[in-house]
Amino acid sequence: MRTVEEHARMVSGLLSPSPVVEIPLAETAGLVLAENLIAPIDLPPFPNSAMDGYAVRAADLTGFPVIMPVSQDIPAGRMDTASLLAGTAARIMTGAPMPAGADTIVQVEKTDGGTETVRIQDAPPPGVHVRVQGEDVAVGAVVLRAGTVLAGPQIGVAAALGFASLPVRRPLEVLILSTGTELVAPGQPLGPGQIYESNSYMLAASVAAAGAKATVAHFVADDVTTFRTALESAAAGVDLIVTSGGVSAGAYEVVKDALTGRGVEFAKVAMQPGMPQGAGLFSADNGRSVPMVTLPGNPVSSYVSFEVFLRPAIRAAMGYEQLTRPALRLPLSKAIDSPPGKRQFRRGVLDPDSGTVAPWGGPGSHLLSWLAGADAMIVVGAAVTRLEAGEPVEVWLLG
Ligand code: AMP
Ligand code: MG
Repeated sequence: MRTVEEHARMVSGLLSPSPVVEIPLAETAGLVLAENLIAPIDLPPFPNSAMDGYAVRAADLTGFPVIMPVSQDIPAGRMDTASLLAGTAARIMTGAPMPAGADTIVQVEKTDGGTETVRIQDAPPPGVHVRVQGEDVAVGAVVLRAGTVLAGPQIGVAAALGFASLPVRRPLEVLILSTGTELVAPGQPLGPGQIYESNSYMLAASVAAAGAKATVAHFVADDVTTFRTALESAAAGVDLIVTSGGVSAGAYEVVKDALTGRGVEFAKVAMQPGMPQGAGLFSADNGRSVPMVTLPGNPVSSYVSFEVFLRPAIRAAMGYEQLTRPALRLPLSKAIDSPPGKRQFRRGVLDPDSGTVAPWGGPGSHLLSWLAGADAMIVVGAAVTRLEAGEPVEVWLLG
């Protein structure tokens, strides 16, 4: 039997780093920036007012109140601002360029708001409401480091610096193919002995949550020829093929039957659920080798296998620094038993009040609704066969 680490290494080893591509800014959310982002301009690009009010010279404010003529109006966006004449005030709006010669912004609240002349009751010291050119970012500065995961604020600053696109790691294209003669698509009537196909939906959503791009191929029956045909057409343009089902020890194990000798290796991994696994470079008929990971079909096994092997491998290939789920050690609120010699992954629910984790449902790998109700994965070491209530255990936070 392989250890979890051995199989994890094998799966990560299949994927090469995804190439760097330039992607329109609006499509970069969640992706990893591939190069340092250097500021091509200062931010703010020019000195401007932080308040609606009046731009004046501090030297003209010899006593209060003071009445001054308003020499110009400067709304945001004005490009032909004149220098401020001594003894005058310019009516100015937030974000509008400071006229040359002005050093002080008097908020409108400290004036009568006049448009011909303005009566100023009081004024702050020079510079207080003036945004200095480059005070946020100086031209040439590294604003975002390569490896940054792009979210709203990072995309926002890139736009503020004028970038219309960014160099990022291209999302891996992952094809998902489920197998099982018993499967029926949701929305169709269910016959005797049939179940709804759920793994492809679960895996596609999980692939997307990991940062990659999922395409789902229509599931196929447990028939080697049908499966091979589906694979060959899938193999053309994807970075990774993930199958579910057909890899355990019974008869009609279509994935195993179709792929043995085609570059994919099948093994037992010392874990529960998820013992039967397969991975390798699938040699397609067109000569292409496509990374392929064959997950077991039981829904919980499929999901756990994805979390344990595929999520970190996909994230590593896409340049994420954070490969694993956030992990903690928390006391169990209830005892659990675990099989000897296998790392056990159990569903868990966190109790933030007591700071404990409760096992959620049994270990059965068909108990999908319990998985859906869990917010944590409890990880029990291979050598451990029982943990009592109150004992600390490793917990992964499923976001
Ligand atoms: P297998 O790994 O193909 O032997 O399947 C193990 C169990 O998982 C069986 O009960 C299957 O019916 C179920 N199963 C396999 N594939 C899927 C799927 N795509 N969606 C839902 N259940 C599945
Ligand atoms: Mg099956």
